Amino acid sequence: HEGGTMTTGGDGAEIDLQLHRAHSARMYDYFLGGTTNFAPDREAAGQAMAVFPWAGTAARANRAFMHRSTRVLAGTGIAQFLDIGTGIPTSPNLHEVAQGVNPRARVVYTDNDPIVYAHAQALLHSTEQGRTAYVQADVRDPEAILNSPMLHDTLDLTRPVALSLVALLHFVPGSDDAHAVVDRLKRALPSGSALVLSHGTRDFAPAETARVAQVYTAAGTAVQQRTREEIGRFFDGWRLLDPGLVATHRWRPDGDTDPTVTDAQISAYAAVAVKP
Ligand code: SAH
Repeated sequence: HEGGTMTTGGDGAEIDLQLHRAHSARMYDYFLGGTTNFAPDREAAGQAMAVFPWAGTAARANRAFMHRSTRVLAGTGIAQFLDIGTGIPTSPNLHEVAQGVNPRARVVYTDNDPIVYAHAQALLHSTEQGRTAYVQADVRDPEAILNSPMLHDTLDLTRPVALSLVALLHFVPGSDDAHAVVDRLKRALPSGSALVLSHGTRDFAPAETARVAQVYTAAGTAVQQRTREEIGRFFDGWRLLDPGLVATHRWRPDGDTDPTVTDAQISAYAAVAVKP
């Protein structure tokens, strides 16, 4: 194979979708039952499901965590959201959930995948009172995100922001890098801000999840699942909201968990914390 398929982004720039190889955003879209995925994505996703048949269950539980945490934070009065690694638009998107609670909510979306950029228009249907924007950037370059004029047109960083890094950081390997990036982003936000994070782990199903990581690596995407302790460190210095750092489907302020789903099937942790 040579090259990919060119398309045009929202600003008219040419972008290469790299359709000849699997991408994590499109594999996740496939797990969710979406249609923005191509043969190499479906092939890699199929291999992941052969070793971890619950990928769809885990992806839907992850999405549901994003919905619940967004509703909770919008309900406590946070009106600004920064969602990094937002993924291929999947309704309801974060702004639809937040603006369902507070129509004035403002949301900045970021991803580094060209397919997300190509579909970003779907993220920009804000309410009239609110506002949404999309910034194409890599989380490993937090300065590019924090210095983006589009971000500052949309968010006021002197007021609380909910930062979501949902199912993102297991794609940022390296023991120091991911924590340094999160620390940098946390420092940029004022008191009252929140960190919403979910992250893949091998804690519950070590053999199966190790094989999932092998599938991603073979498909060209490095993955690092982390332990509960390593994931907990992302929240250092901030106050965890109830119920703390738990398997993603258990993050329910009402404590009402689906008994048919197991921690092994989810194989990810989630939490929400607030900056003192
Ligand atoms: N947050 C969404 C999507 C998760 S899928 C949700 O939870 O439903 C992971 C997303 O992270 C993909 O869209 C992928 O393109 C993006 N991603 C992976 N590595 C990234 C990086 N270094 N910078 C920004 N986005 C990244």
